[in-house]
Amino acid sequence: THFGFQTVDEAEKSKKVHQVFKSVADSYDAMNDVMSCGVHRLWKDELMRTLDPSPRTRLLDVAGGTGDIAFRYLNYISDMKGDGHVTIADINGSMLEEGKKRALNLKLNQDNVSWVECDAENLPMESDSYSAYTIAFGIRNVTHIDKALDEAYRVLEPGGRFLCLEFSQVNPAALRWLYDQYSFNVIPVMGHVVAGQWKPYQYLVESIRKFPCQEDFKYMIESAGFRCVTYTNLTFGVVAIHSGFKL
Ligand code: SAM
Repeated sequence: THFGFQTVDEAEKSKKVHQVFKSVADSYDAMNDVMSCGVHRLWKDELMRTLDPSPRTRLLDVAGGTGDIAFRYLNYISDMKGDGHVTIADINGSMLEEGKKRALNLKLNQDNVSWVECDAENLPMESDSYSAYTIAFGIRNVTHIDKALDEAYRVLEPGGRFLCLEFSQVNPAALRWLYDQYSFNVIPVMGHVVAGQWKPYQYLVESIRKFPCQEDFKYMIESAGFRCVTYTNLTFGVVAIHSGFKL
């Protein structure tokens, strides 16, 4: 509501999202591979290629979870001169803890990484302080997408780029039917069999269905003030990368 109170549905959603990611944190990375047959890696690589960062890019990766995007950024700039910096922001401490363990295992230079537990709708970062903002498979979990977009706009400096990788609408319709069969019937079963959990994976499928289609989301990004907003479909629109600039 305008007074900042959440309706019962909204409060339910935040609680559910929190429980889902707390319960899947330790199996999250493995399950991503199982459910997407490893393809999520290619989608994330494509996000990084689209960003094409340099060590001067000050990146804020929101809903950064276990660090997949941030680690790709560090890898991308590793052969370039200079030290880039990435901030990983996520509302869920359990996901960040998994990410920190991974960073240690990968022997990453932690001087270049900051982990911040916070809400995408209310970022503690200063205005105009980042040159790039990424959010991968995160925005559909946020209760008020418009607030998260406003915050993305605020923290980016003029010229800064917003990039979002998210599940989207599959086209054409015949493929969408096939994809629906896979996601409604196979994903929760896989969740149950592989990770011992049905509900979080059922939530995942439902949240994908509820998320706006490519054009509607593009309009939302423009409404937050971003310019030159475009999107690219990957894998027939199973996911899309939306891009916008703060000009
Ligand atoms: N970006 C990572 C990736 O691509 O592997 C993680 C994606 S995971 C599907 C979604 C993440 O969004 C979870 O870590 C969850 O805690 C986080 N999240 C959900 N709501 C959030 C919010 N309001 N603010 C920040 N992070 C949020």
